[in-house]
Parts: sequence; C-alpha cells; structure tokens
Amino acid sequence: MTPFAYDAPADASSALAALHDAPAALGPAMFIAGGTNLLDLMKENVLRPARLVDINALPLYDIEPTPAGGLRLGALARNADTAWHPLVRAHYPLLSTAILAGASPQIRNMASNGGNLLQRTRCHYFYDTAAPCNKRLPGSGCSAIGGLTRQHAILGASPHCIATHPSDMCVALAALGASVHVQSVQGSRTVPMASFHRLPEDRPEQDHTLAPGELITHIELPPADHLRGHSAYLKLRDRASYAFALVSVAAALDIGPDGHVREARLALGGVAHKPWRQPDAEALLVGQPVDDARFAQAADALLHGAQGQGDNDFKIPLARRAIVRTLQRAARGTPQPLGAA
Ligand SMILES: Cc1cc2nc3c(=O)[nH]c(=O)nc-3n(C[C@H](O)[C@H](O)[C@H](O)COP(=O)(O)OP(=O)(O)OC[C@H]3O[C@@H](n4cnc5c(N)ncnc54)[C@H](O)[C@@H]3O)c2cc1C
Ligand code: SF4
Repeated sequence: MTPFAYDAPADASSALAALHDAPAALGPAMFIAGGTNLLDLMKENVLRPARLVDINALPLYDIEPTPAGGLRLGALARNADTAWHPLVRAHYPLLSTAILAGASPQIRNMASNGGNLLQRTRCHYFYDTAAPCNKRLPGSGCSAIGGLTRQHAILGASPHCIATHPSDMCVALAALGASVHVQSVQGSRTVPMASFHRLPEDRPEQDHTLAPGELITHIELPPADHLRGHSAYLKLRDRASYAFALVSVAAALDIGPDGHVREARLALGGVAHKPWRQPDAEALLVGQPVDDARFAQAADALLHGAQGQGDNDFKIPLARRAIVRTLQRAARGTPQPLGAA
C-alpha cells in the first residue's frame, strides 16, 4: 500500500472542502466509510489515493420516515442496521432480504449504504494489476474478453468491458425506485437509481454518474406498502453464503383482490454493469392474472438481447428460470427475511 494523507472532518462541508481542495498533483483524494471495499483495493494496489477523507464522523446515520410517506436511509447507516431496522423490515422487506443476502454478518456490520452503492466490480482481472483492464487503466484492454467469464455480464456489455456490478442492495433499490441524494461544494442534487450506475460503453472506468467530489448523503425510498405483501429476492451463487451473485432477482407485485397484477417491479443483479430493469417487461404483467406463462414472457422481455461470453452462457437460462421462480415466490406472499419472527 502506498502512503496517504488522512483527514477525519466532523461535518459535511469540511469533508467536501477537504476532497475539493486536495492538491491534484499529489494524486486522487477519496472518501472512506466502512473501508470494506476501498481498503482491499488499496492493499492490492488497484487504487492508490493520496488522501483519504474519513466521513464516519458526519451525521449521516439516521433512518427516518420522509414527509412523502417513504423512508430516508443515511449514507453512513451500516448495511446490518439498515436491514434489521424495524421500518425497513416492516415496509421494505425486499430491501432487508437483499441486504442480508450479501457478504457476511461482519462485513454488513461495517459496510455503509453509500459505500455499497459505490463498491467496485469483482472482475478478477480488475484486481490483478498485472492484467490489462480498461476499468483500472483506461485504454489498456479487457482481459476478460476471451478470458475467464463465469461471473461476467450477459446484458449491456461493451467491447471495452464486460464486468458486472456486484451489489445485492442496489438490485432491491432499483426495483423499489429509490433515489440517491448527493452533495458537493456546488450544492445538492438527487439522482434516480435508474441513472445512478452506468453501462460501460467506451468509458468503463466510470461506474456511476456522480461527479468527482460528490458525497452521498442519503438514499430515499418512495412509499411502497402496496408492494410489501408480494416481494421476493432470490440470489444464486457458487456457495450458499459469502459469495457474489451469479444471478439475482428482485421482484415485487401489487396484486388486486381479483388476483390481477396492478403493478410489477423486476430487477436483475449479477448480469450487467448496473442493476438491470426494463419497464417493458414489467408492463407485460400489469392487468394480467398471476400466471407462470406470463412470468416466462416477462423473463424473456427482461433478458431481451442477452448474450453470453462463453463461460457464462449458462447465466441466460439460469436467469430466465430465476425470474420465473422469484415471481412465483412473490405472488405466493413475501417470504420472511432470515431471523424474522
Ligand atoms: C469478502 C466480501 C464479500 C462481499 N460480498 C458482498 C455481497 O455478496 N453482496 C454485496 O452487495 N456486497 C458484498 N460485499 C461488498 C460490501 O457490501 C461493500 O464492500 C460495502 O458495501 C462497501 O461499503 P463501505 O462503507 O465499506 O465502503 P468503502 O470501502 O469505505 O468505500 C467504497 C467506495 O465508496 C466511496 N464512498 C463511501 N461512502 C461514500 C459516500 N457517502 N459518498 C461518496 N462516496 C462514498 C469510497 O470513496 C469508495 O470509493 C462484499 C465485500 C467483501 C469484502
Ligand atoms: S471486464 Fe471490465 S473490469 Fe474486467 S478486465 Fe475487462 S475492462 Fe477490466
């Protein structure tokens, strides 16, 4: 690990100024929250920030209702505290289940909500500083294309990068239509989850649409009580725990008294550079009875254009079956998260 300067400011404006005013000539300055991803990347020399601005003293821990009837999740609230929070469990069981499907209890105790959004891909070539990687070193090439691709994308990939976004939490946030609130020295703005992460295109080094120096302050969930009775998160991976998703599915349905779907939400993880959502696929379910054939049609629409890279060709039929299974589970009623009463 290369040497770095360290600041731990107590308020957001000092943190923003510390990052903004860091001398560019010395190298990049970065925020650090739980450090569960950033420190690994520093130890592997994938990232070499010249300055770390520790944001853990900022007052960004609260989880509280919004005037609109939704929920505001502080950027520094830990993943475990978020998943087990009574308001999250009661109103957003999909989010609780997705977070608890990720990492391990120890990591979830340390990992923050803001850091989860900005965690980097788990493409092994990205971590291997001896391998060309356009995301780590723009213009150097992509070792995964023609290499080992079991974990890689089947949707939205580019000739420059076929990496996937590894988060579980973000898949649920995408399905729930969350938005991300950010602050910079210029002011504040809100970014919908749908446009927070980006596809690799010809700039795979850029995972998201934040500008340099923007601080995530909180995530806002819109009201979703109409979806809480019929939601499910399914994560398929190489081990039963402590492994990233090969394919994951977040599904939520609003089913009327006549058994017809009034609203549907579907998002995929482990298959693209961002959580994958297609409103056209969801629209196929609306106004229809709960029905396996309809679920299969929605799965085909969500996977439209999917392309394997060789090792990961299996992900296409796996994802299709996983979407149908998750919709079936959601239709039967929300499964209780692990440890629920
Ligand atoms: C062994 C292991 C297994 C894992 N398995 C899973 C899994 O199965 N599913 C899953 O979803 N995740 C998994 N993770 C990832 C884990 O969830 C993330 O590492 C964690 O959420 C990152 O949060 P953090 O607070 O530690 O971020 P940090 O490591 O502190 O920061 C990560 C990035 O976010 C930036 N950042 C942090 N907070 C802010 C903010 N408020 N504003 C702006 N920038 C910010 C930092 O500058 C850095 O670039 C795993 C991690 C490990 C180490
Ligand atoms: S898939 Fe992306 S992250 Fe992986 S080697 Fe290629 S450019 Fe790098």
